[in-house]
Amino acid sequence: MDSSAATPIRFSIPYVSGNELRYLEQVLASRNFAGNGPFTQRVQSWLETRFEVQRVLLTHSCTAALEMSALLLDLEPGDEVIMPSYTFCSTASAFARTPARIVFCEIDERSLMMDPDDLERRLSPRTRAVVPVHYAGLAADLPRIAELTSQACAVLVEDAAQGLDAAAFGRPLGTTGLFGCLSFHETKNLHAGLGGALFLNTDDDALLNRATQVWERGTNRQAQLRGLVDKYTWTELGSSFYPSELQAAFLLAQLESLDENRAARQALHEAYLEALTPLADAGMLALPPYEASHRINYHAFYVVFPKVAQCEHVRLALKHEDIAAYIGYVPLHSSPMGRKLGWKADDLPITEDVAQRVLRLPMHNEMSAEDVLHVAGRLTAHLGYEP
Ligand SMILES: *Cc1c(COP(=O)(O)O)cnc(C)c1O
Repeated sequence: MDSSAATPIRFSIPYVSGNELRYLEQVLASRNFAGNGPFTQRVQSWLETRFEVQRVLLTHSCTAALEMSALLLDLEPGDEVIMPSYTFCSTASAFARTPARIVFCEIDERSLMMDPDDLERRLSPRTRAVVPVHYAGLAADLPRIAELTSQACAVLVEDAAQGLDAAAFGRPLGTTGLFGCLSFHETKNLHAGLGGALFLNTDDDALLNRATQVWERGTNRQAQLRGLVDKYTWTELGSSFYPSELQAAFLLAQLESLDENRAARQALHEAYLEALTPLADAGMLALPPYEASHRINYHAFYVVFPKVAQCEHVRLALKHEDIAAYIGYVPLHSSPMGRKLGWKADDLPITEDVAQRVLRLPMHNEMSAEDVLHVAGRLTAHLGYEP
């Protein structure tokens, strides 16, 4: 297929809004760098207002937000936490460092997200938390997962690292569980270099107060700053979970461009869909299951091939032409660390199989619609499809 696209086509290029320097200069002038200053407050309020979250705490990563969730749950030996194996390692490592046992569950073959039927089989009286992962800017089956989780008297923690500004079932992602964990890593739609946020969807003051102490290195420094205590002291098992003001200022500039960023990605997404739907109709690959009633955020575009060999062939052929298409997650249960936790590959046969057939296509704000047509055209050719 002829195309004017410029190669190489990179998989992802971190977004720049253009206003970052203006805010960074304000931080330099303010001499307030270490974090939890005016820009951190502004970002937290921005997120609280925009997504109707009761309380947001900015973190230095989604990994940190997941770790805060795990700490706040006070997990004990014998407790279990259920999550998909098809996810980034941070989802698991945050809980694996507690005394709880990780229970990996299968994914749905098309959405690549937690399969509620398999969740149901794995729930037990020991289940303390369920951690669905929202993948590629789409939503996990939250109504069923939340219902099963509450029947089991467990806590729902959403890994919404990829879910900023996506919504489903009437709610923004990250606002249904007790905790929602978001990422502002440079590979996400918007970023702070590194960054994240913990959405606390609760008005339980005791829990909110504890969360703030865990966030602030395990101290009651916030109470001191507000004049409630004279000296601050070590009160909790916490860590240094928040980012610097430099990151918060950078992030505010990015957030203010959210709608623009999203519109550009939507155009790319629609170009991919249009070009690849004929292949899906011909059964040569599967596209993600988009629900018209959900608001997706166009974080990533992936396809699933019927056969592992096709997936590898297309990926390598694209690579040869300087088009970066990446595999999906390497399942955690069969990873070296997953095996140390007692899992083996055939414990989750569906995940093991599907994960090898996923190909993620380039998606970033510096791509043009021609670039998308070029990628889709080359993919079509390598798959041997002739319309
Ligand atoms: C990116 C990502 C993370 C980790 O986010 P960091 O901000 O890099 O810690 C966790 N889970 C999922 C699903 C992710 O995509």
